[in-house]
Amino acid sequence: MFHVKQNTHIKQKVGCPICSAEDIIPYLKTKDYFFTQEEFSITKCQKCNFVFTNPVPKDLSVYYDTADYLSHNTKNGGIISKVYSLLRFINIRRKYKLVSKYCKKGNILDVGSGTGELLSYFNKNSWDTIGIEPNENARKFSKLNYNIDVYNENKLDDFDLKSFDVITMWHVLEHVPDLHKRLSQISKIIKDNGTLVFALPNLNSPDSKKYKEFWSALDVPRHLNHFTQETFEKLISYHNLRLVHAEPMKFDSYYVSMLSEKYLKNKFFYISAIYNGFISNMKAKKNNNYSSMIFVVKKEL
Ligand SMILES: [Zn+2]
Repeated sequence: MFHVKQNTHIKQKVGCPICSAEDIIPYLKTKDYFFTQEEFSITKCQKCNFVFTNPVPKDLSVYYDTADYLSHNTKNGGIISKVYSLLRFINIRRKYKLVSKYCKKGNILDVGSGTGELLSYFNKNSWDTIGIEPNENARKFSKLNYNIDVYNENKLDDFDLKSFDVITMWHVLEHVPDLHKRLSQISKIIKDNGTLVFALPNLNSPDSKKYKEFWSALDVPRHLNHFTQETFEKLISYHNLRLVHAEPMKFDSYYVSMLSEKYLKNKFFYISAIYNGFISNMKAKKNNNYSSMIFVVKKEL
């Protein structure tokens, strides 16, 4: 059925990662345009409509270029990195404001804390902060530069039950291989009145529909899970969690459009990105289906 090499490095899923149904159909084929140019297939569950990369390589670490990942944060070169820094700061302040609406002060666990800038901002505002980050260099960077304690993912099983006021996962869940395991871990350690915040690319966004297999937020094979608001709500419902608020990340449509235009080999990708990012945000207004969404989640009590 698939043209992807069926070798020992590839893991085919038999059931839907959310509802376990085995009625899975091909959705589209795309490439790792960002890095290896390898082709990957994406499939869709007929029962719950969840869309996921399938099969996936057994060892995903080779698809994460860690040198490049850190260079975003540490090199201060051209205009792109300056714009990136500015946008990152605006983003951090905005995330802080959103979290503060639900909790004025307390402790926060950021899963996928990267190089620690967000946690450092919370820390400066008298929050207790802990990070989880699989990348060892990023963990060291956080400790060295911001004195933030960051652990690898195994630590998630060690925290006390109901011990966090806030847990955030910014653009993380799309990378997570075992969704139910991760959701079960975080729903155990969040306080009963605690707040969970997720940011995710939105497969139902206008830019996703425009770019199809060239939509850069597919980002295979690093992105394993391609959520819509509906499939995200389905997933959290298994863990006694409910969506309380959904809001857009409007910058993402520009960035995603820029990369997508690059993948389409458009020489004028900057101009097209501004135009198409704007159009995507305009179209998304109708049904709150923006390129990337932030979901605020609470426990069902
Ligand atoms: Zn399903």
